[in-house]
Amino acid sequence: MAAPAPARDADGPPRAPYRGRFAPSPTGPLHAGSLVAALGSWLDARAHGGRWLLRIEDIDTPRCVPGAEAAILGQLAACGLVADEPPWRQSERVPAYAAALQALRAAGRAYPCACARRDVEAHWAALGVHWPAEAETPYPGTCRGGLQGRPARAWRLRVDEAPASRLRWHDRRLGWRQQDVAQAVGDFVLRRADGLWAYQLAVVVDDAAQGITDVVRGEDLADNTPRQILLQRALGLPVPRYLHLPLVRSADGRKLSKQTGAQALALGDPVAALQAAGAVLGLPRIEAGTVGDWLGAATRAWAGIIAAFANRSDP
Ligand code: GLU
Repeated sequence: MAAPAPARDADGPPRAPYRGRFAPSPTGPLHAGSLVAALGSWLDARAHGGRWLLRIEDIDTPRCVPGAEAAILGQLAACGLVADEPPWRQSERVPAYAAALQALRAAGRAYPCACARRDVEAHWAALGVHWPAEAETPYPGTCRGGLQGRPARAWRLRVDEAPASRLRWHDRRLGWRQQDVAQAVGDFVLRRADGLWAYQLAVVVDDAAQGITDVVRGEDLADNTPRQILLQRALGLPVPRYLHLPLVRSADGRKLSKQTGAQALALGDPVAALQAAGAVLGLPRIEAGTVGDWLGAATRAWAGIIAAFANRSDP
């Protein structure tokens, strides 16, 4: 079988009128890192004359914090970042995720899995293989052939072996990237053992349902993209363009997050917060008295930055 064609073959304009999104998980208020993703996705939508949508990713309910959604919407509004359509909530989208899993089951692409994390670890330990703590532990396919009498816990996507699993995909900032999904993660989870829908499935179903042409988000999610493209293909959904933005790092070099001690964004001075987020995105310092003036100038500057991405010759 020939190697699969690249997900996108050009860095030109999107195929449909631009629709972008910001998809925060309501696990707390925005911090300096999440504002970069919000601002970058907003600027990219505006620079393309497109629409900017908001999706509250409240599917991982144990991690959701009451009041976080309202706090995030308030912070975005203070920064002048207001969605063009009413926000979606993943907690209201469960029937769509169930339908997608059903379609994958009907196509023979999804199977139930009885393994707990410790079973997967025991499998690799028995082979003397140890995966680095920061990497995913690939699923070895134990339940592909059946549950062997054990109760089903999760549902997984059957990832066909290479070359089908070898994804070459394009990022507008990072250039061409490659991942063998079978090797990197193996058959990955669509529905978790606790009954919750996995991020990979929910994000793919919702990006398609919201008509998203351009996914713009933090670089920490770049390695998830090949899984999402495999799922888009398996479900017959369009593949959007991707742009992964630089991350804000904590003092010890890790991605800024609540776990690494990120503080909620203080919005006494929204222009200063935007200025700091803009610097991470590569924008020059913009002298502006109001949020609206700052965003207008930043949109023009961002158009220059993305034109430079597009003109760069990738290896
Ligand atoms: N909800 C994810 C997060 O907050 C973002 C998902 C995405 O942009 O695809 O990290």
